[in-house]
Order: sequence, then structure tokens, then C-alpha cells
Amino acid sequence: MRRRRRQGRIWPWQRARGSSAPAAGPGGDAAIRIYHVSKSYSAGSFALRDVSLEFRKGEFVFLTGPSGAGKTTLLRLLFAAAQPSEGQIVVLGRNIARLGDSAIPSLRRRVGVVFQDFKLLPRRTIEENVALALDVVGMRRRQARARVFAILKQLGLQHRRYHHPLSLSGGEQQRVAIARALVNEPEILLADEPTGNLDPALTVEIMDLIASAATRGTTVIVATHELDLVARYGKRSVRLESGRVTEDSPAGGSWR
Ligand code: ADP
Repeated sequence: MRRRRRQGRIWPWQRARGSSAPAAGPGGDAAIRIYHVSKSYSAGSFALRDVSLEFRKGEFVFLTGPSGAGKTTLLRLLFAAAQPSEGQIVVLGRNIARLGDSAIPSLRRRVGVVFQDFKLLPRRTIEENVALALDVVGMRRRQARARVFAILKQLGLQHRRYHHPLSLSGGEQQRVAIARALVNEPEILLADEPTGNLDPALTVEIMDLIASAATRGTTVIVATHELDLVARYGKRSVRLESGRVTEDSPAGGSWR
């Protein structure tokens, strides 16, 4: 319904920049449209420069590039943890480039995020860590508990639900973080170096879990500097260098 209402609408920035805008309107198959975005943290230096990209609904994309290339910055812009200095970003049909504080929770409900260092609350149990994501949404307690149990079970963590994060292995902690990111059934999943702290065997396990979200229709964007991982999955990969997109390779390889 949301999409239908917005169809045909011309956004001010589309009118202003004419033909160089990414194809299609805010509806269609695009989950995310990034339009001439630059981000500067301090005068004269740019973490991102004139980045334009489009990610389709259900697409699984790797964001690659060396340390300092701007990967984290780009992901942070997509869940409104930072604002672009220039340009526009449309996430799920909504321009979030200048999102007010009051609009951020509704965006975060639809965008799950996984970080390299898990970011779990050490004094809360696994169940509580995951349930917090639903608290934010205001879900009723009984329904929330059932939802949390279901996602923990799906990720093979139900037996750990009353444990605390630090008693779990790194791989298990990252699975909890994925459960927390997915419990709201987000339309977009962002992962920033999600396997950076894990050994190679766990890396594959965790990446498979993240990738499986895309097969259920979630748009998944994974920032990584591990090129062998990118090659293994054969999915689209966008390379950033010094804040610019230097390569955008379509999916081509097979699934493992
Ligand atoms: P990557 O994730 O690819 O390593 P980042 O987005 O973290 O890249 O960083 C891109 C550039 O922006 C780097 O030069 C980094 O030093 C700078 N940067 C990132 N975050 C901040 C910040 N909060 N304040 C100032 N500079 C930052």
C-alpha cells in the first residue's frame, strides 16, 4: 500500500538533478537509492564522495574496499546513525537524508544491523538482548517472548537463552546479534565486517546465516575487506576506495 501511494511522485531532488538520477522512482524494486552522497567529518576530508548506488529488494550485496574506504560510513548513513553532508538517500521509499529524531525508530524497525564486535549488552541474558529489539517496537510481552524464542530456535540458540553473552563463544555471540537484527523481520539487513572477529570455519557459518536472510526477501548488505569471502558467494560487489565507488560487479558466480 505504501508503495502504491507513492508511485508517480516526483521527488524534489529528482527534478533538480534530472537524468543523472538512478533509474526508476522511489517505488519499484529499489530498497535503497543513494543519490550523489558525500560525507565529510571534517573540513576538506571526505569519507564518501559523490556516491550513487541502488540496491534492489531481496538483493545480497557485498561492500568491499580497504580499511578507511568508507564502508562503515555508508552503512551508518543507511540506518540514520549519521547524515550525509550532501546528496539524498531513499530507504524503503522514504528520504532519510535529513530524518528527524522522531522518525528514526520507525526506520530502525525495518532495518536490522549486525556489527563486527556484536554489541550485545553483557549484563542481559541472550533472551533479553534479543527482546530489547522488540521492546523498541512496543510489542506485547507474550508475543515478544514467542518471537524471541522462535528466532533463537531458528539460529540454534534456544538452549542458550538464559545465558549471558560473555559465556558464549564468538560465533554464538554473533548468532545472537543476528537474531537480534532479524527478530523484527526487517526488510533490510546491514552487516559491518560481521565475521571480522571469527575464525574461518565460523566465518562461513555466520555468512551463510546472513545470506539466507536475502533468500527470504530481505535486502542484505555486508561490508567486508575479505575478498575470498566475496568470491565464495559470487554475489554483487561494490568496491569503495577513498570514499568513491570504483567498481560495481554484478552477481555472477554460483552459490558456493
Ligand atoms: P571503512 O569502514 O571502509 O574502514 P570508514 O567509513 O570507517 O571506512 O572511514 C572512512 C574515513 O572516514 C576514514 O578516513 C576514517 O578515518 C574517517 N572517519 C570515519 N568515522 C569518522 C568519525 N566519526 N570522525 C572522523 N572521521 C571519521
